[in-house]
Amino acid sequence: MTSLLIQGGQVVGRKELTRADVRIVDGRITEIATQLAAQPGERVIDASGCWVGPGFVDLHTHLREPGKESAENVETGANAAALGGYTAVLAMPNTEPTLDSVAMVSYVLDRGRSARVEVAVAGAITIGRLGQQLAPMAKMASLGVTVFTDDGTGVQDAGVMRRAMTYAAQLGVTLAQHCEDEALAAGGVMNEGSVSSRLGLSGRHALAEEIMVSRDIDLVRLTGCPMHFLHLSTARSLELVRAAQSEGLPVTAEIAPHHFTLDESACETFDPEFKVHPPLRTAADVAALREALRSGVVDAVATDHAPHTPESKDMAFDEAPPGMLGLEHAASLTLDAVGEDRPLVFFDVLSRGPAAIARLRASDTRVRHSAHGGDMVVGDDANIVVFDPSTTYVVDRFALASKARNTPYHGRELRGRARATIVRGVVVQESGELC
Ligand SMILES: [Zn+2]
Repeated sequence: MTSLLIQGGQVVGRKELTRADVRIVDGRITEIATQLAAQPGERVIDASGCWVGPGFVDLHTHLREPGKESAENVETGANAAALGGYTAVLAMPNTEPTLDSVAMVSYVLDRGRSARVEVAVAGAITIGRLGQQLAPMAKMASLGVTVFTDDGTGVQDAGVMRRAMTYAAQLGVTLAQHCEDEALAAGGVMNEGSVSSRLGLSGRHALAEEIMVSRDIDLVRLTGCPMHFLHLSTARSLELVRAAQSEGLPVTAEIAPHHFTLDESACETFDPEFKVHPPLRTAADVAALREALRSGVVDAVATDHAPHTPESKDMAFDEAPPGMLGLEHAASLTLDAVGEDRPLVFFDVLSRGPAAIARLRASDTRVRHSAHGGDMVVGDDANIVVFDPSTTYVVDRFALASKARNTPYHGRELRGRARATIVRGVVVQESGELC
């Protein structure tokens, strides 16, 4: 029997915070009460000044395995997640080869079994993410895959997308789209607008994203397929999703920390760390995303954690690959946008919302994962983060658990950090040290 006591924190329930201690025995919450006394041999975690809530769930992690293990692998990506307060991540399928078959999905699930956090896997919608032939979604779904995406690119052909959605609706799975119309994005390297014109860099127009969001909402109306929009970056995209939700359509949306903390002016440095798809947008878009986050209309914050080796990022802005790291700092950046006065929203967008979208709120014996995004009640699987909202730290790209170093926040002071991360009742990280 392993027993753990989290003492002195504020327990974040679904509707309110309560000052209480939490006892965990053999991977489950067994007691929540004030002033529980430590038993002999019991490990105690001091949670004074902290929120004790369901561990964060990342819907958008590029673990780079197989194919680009020089940038990240399942183990190092999971370590970064543990430090960031995550208890589960959803691995994106744009690896080499693509996760578009039972064999490839099984490979990553197997690698995930020895990782510090739980690793769920998203399958590809089309073979090789080429946007042409549908992947065997039913077979992958039998392994417990609930989300399919060609992330990295969107499915360009509306006819292919319609067939994928009809198929997915019958299977009871969710499709997730990287919304960018490639013809409109036209190989651009940053947001199209006055800044790109001034810098002489080619632009990706906001409409490249919005037109695909709009198209896919129409296809949801036609097919009834549940649809999740990845990393939305413009005010208009969020308006489209909000309207679809109020119509009762089964659509959800995530936004990424870089899109609500950085704007296109960062590209004036020509530093490739600021290159990402979809690109950093206008200051007005950033303000709209922050407002959407605070008011609770966004379902999830997702990192789009995209590791690249220093060699591959060390190029001219035009040539460098898009993407930046996310897992180790996303919660701090989210806290900054949501505000310390809204802990329930903070846990909704980082834990409960994403867990519901990835269907990780119930345990799944096919992939042997436990339940995440819980209500913090007795009987829950103990996937928990102890989060200190007032501690500050300075981002150091050379002190990351990720193999890669491509964070745009190097040197920036951030507030709020996971003091401990507990996965299935086991402490995997405490005070910034992996256990
Ligand atoms: Zn993407």
